[in-house]
Amino acid sequence: MSNLDLSFRSANETILIVDDNPVNLGVVVGRLEQQGYDVLVALGGEEALTRAEFASPDLVLLDVMMPGLDGFETCRRLKANPLTTHIPVIFMTALGDLRDKVAAFEAGGVDYVSKPFHFEELLARIATHLALKAARQSLALQNSLLTQEIAARAEAEAKLRVSEQSYRRLFETAGDGILLLDADSGTVVDANPRFLAMTGQPRGALRGQAIEALPGMSVFADAASMAELRHSGTLRRDEVTLAAADGSELFVDLIASSCEVAGRSLAQYNLRDITDRKQAEAHIRYLALHDALTGLPNRTMFFERLSAELARARRSGGASALLVIDLDHFKQVNDCLGHLVGDQLLQEVSARLLQCLRAADTAARLGGDEFVVALADIGTRERADEVAARILEALGAPFDLDGQVAHISGSIGISLFPEDGDSPRALLQAADTAMYGAKKGGRNTCVRYTHQLDVPGERWRTLSQDVHGACGRGEFEIYYQPQIDLEDGRVVGIESLIRWNHPREGLISPTVFIPLLEERGLMLEVGSWVLHEACRQNAAWQRSGLAPVRIAVNLSAQQFYRGDIVRTVRAALAGAALEPCWLELELTESLTLDDSEATLRIMNELKEIGVALSLDDFGTGWSSLGYLSRFPLDRIKIDRSFVRDMGSHEGTAAIVSSILDLARTLGLDCIAEGVETEEQRDRLRSKDCPSMQGFLFSEPVPAAEMLCILERGARTGPGAIAAASPERA
Ligand code: C2E
Ligand code: CA
Ligand code: CA
Repeated sequence: MSNLDLSFRSANETILIVDDNPVNLGVVVGRLEQQGYDVLVALGGEEALTRAEFASPDLVLLDVMMPGLDGFETCRRLKANPLTTHIPVIFMTALGDLRDKVAAFEAGGVDYVSKPFHFEELLARIATHLALKAARQSLALQNSLLTQEIAARAEAEAKLRVSEQSYRRLFETAGDGILLLDADSGTVVDANPRFLAMTGQPRGALRGQAIEALPGMSVFADAASMAELRHSGTLRRDEVTLAAADGSELFVDLIASSCEVAGRSLAQYNLRDITDRKQAEAHIRYLALHDALTGLPNRTMFFERLSAELARARRSGGASALLVIDLDHFKQVNDCLGHLVGDQLLQEVSARLLQCLRAADTAARLGGDEFVVALADIGTRERADEVAARILEALGAPFDLDGQVAHISGSIGISLFPEDGDSPRALLQAADTAMYGAKKGGRNTCVRYTHQLDVPGERWRTLSQDVHGACGRGEFEIYYQPQIDLEDGRVVGIESLIRWNHPREGLISPTVFIPLLEERGLMLEVGSWVLHEACRQNAAWQRSGLAPVRIAVNLSAQQFYRGDIVRTVRAALAGAALEPCWLELELTESLTLDDSEATLRIMNELKEIGVALSLDDFGTGWSSLGYLSRFPLDRIKIDRSFVRDMGSHEGTAAIVSSILDLARTLGLDCIAEGVETEEQRDRLRSKDCPSMQGFLFSEPVPAAEMLCILERGARTGPGAIAAASPERA
């Protein structure tokens, strides 16, 4: 369009001819119309200006010499008017001199023709200027289009810049990590700050690197999936695990997509951190499979693990063991020290339990104070016993629970795979039976399952049911055992020891049923009955004329802390009309008697009543000597085990001596328990032990027999019993 096409002719081009001589006009008009132009005529300058403005001709032929406005002035005015300024003006003049030519161009004309002119020349000039004008117009149009286009492009570019910036901003600030890889080479094109933060990659180091060469980035280096991505362009979505900057695990929802940028195939990876969600899921899973209190696996998880372990043992032909551990006296801790302390104890127990195990073993809490342990791949059967012994030892150390000291032990039942059972269920049943065997065997022991245990285990369960209501049915009876003054052989005291006359089983030892009473919550009721009965019996003996003696009653920790022991004691004394000085309460240090304000307060209240207090089983418990001087005690009872080992073990003999020294220093009376032989008696006598109790003098006997002993003592005088031979032992 930019070339000047001189043949350019438009059908209806209009030419305005301005001449004051109509004769001239006639000829030209005719010729031009022949050429196909539309011709307008003006007879003077003024008229020309008006017509040009309204008709907007394509060209003006303007005579120079005219009356009024001459051609030059007319041209100047045409050029001055914006409506007509673009119309090319060709002057027609008779003057051929240079001055006029110059004046013609100065006035704004584009050309001139001299009169008389050759018409062909005129036509050629007209055609030329019309074509020029058309070309100029087209150029102007093109220019304006170009300007518009440039403006539009500038606008578009500006927009693009803005969107690029916002893309960049999005990229930079996105909550997702974004990684762009070249799909062909697998090199990093870009990675946004979030990606770098998530993966701990240094910023500058990543760009241009081959992704598979970067540590921890293998998820993105999966060439196969990248190729697949590139060809299908599909999205791929995965949950993957990455190593986070701090070395922890980062769970990521990974979206892979492909895109084409400037002819380059890119793989884009969007990473969303779903660690929180994963952690919440893991937490829920954890809660579903663990014991909330101790964090140990719960029953469900334990059985899963045990099943897996048994399957493994079956394949390898190995052996496994199951341990059921029941805490002794836990109920007392719970009752005496409160549930919070009880909970704390369970936590501490589980911690100690874990310390006794290997990583492959599993410990779990089945509920209450019952724990189980699966021992994986025990080489020999004895290993189960070893672990059990280690657990008992670990439980044996005192528990410091927020400043309160508690003593606890465990009863452990062991079953072995494959001999004692082929399934988790059968093994648990067997270990449970063995555990009841351990409880029955005096607690703080472990017992391996044998078929013979099935009967006692069953018996234990039956007894635990039978003990309910036994007190009301009058099945309990008190046996009495004399305490002898070593100097003159007099009976100075009597210990009351409870027995259970079971309707089918006969006489049952308190070591068997006292744990049942404790666990069944019956200890308070039965303990109170013992107090009343012992006081009543003692008062009856006194009324029958016998010399008064102290009657000693054993108190369990449960009675001591839980029940209103002070009131119960008062009631028992009042009910029997017994003077308080003839009642002694035996407290055992091996239970949860602790060195606390509460203990001291209750002891002082009991002392205020006027009863005596003795410390039972001295030496077996927590033997903090500090409390010996703080507690208002009257007597300590040296535990049977010291008396037993005194003869065979020098160290034990020395301990007995120092216990006696200590008692003397503190002004406390002392009784040695479990004296069975004359040799033991003589040794104790040589150490100046003031009194004794044991089978050497008498077993615990029913009230009627105790009466005989008392009467015999009264008849024969001092020394009678001290000389008695141990016929019953
Ligand atoms: P304990 O208070 O240490 O009672 C002494 C135990 O030693 C008694 O066992 C007694 O029969 C036994 N014994 C006495 N002399 C000898 C001896 O020379 N050799 C041997 N080997 N043993 C001897 P028992 O009657 O079976 O009582 C066991 C435990 O049951 C008692 O130990 C006591 O802690 C508890 N107990 C008994 N009666 C009651 C009671 O009424 N209330 C409470 N809370 N506990 C009781
Ligand atoms: Ca006792
Ligand atoms: Ca004792």
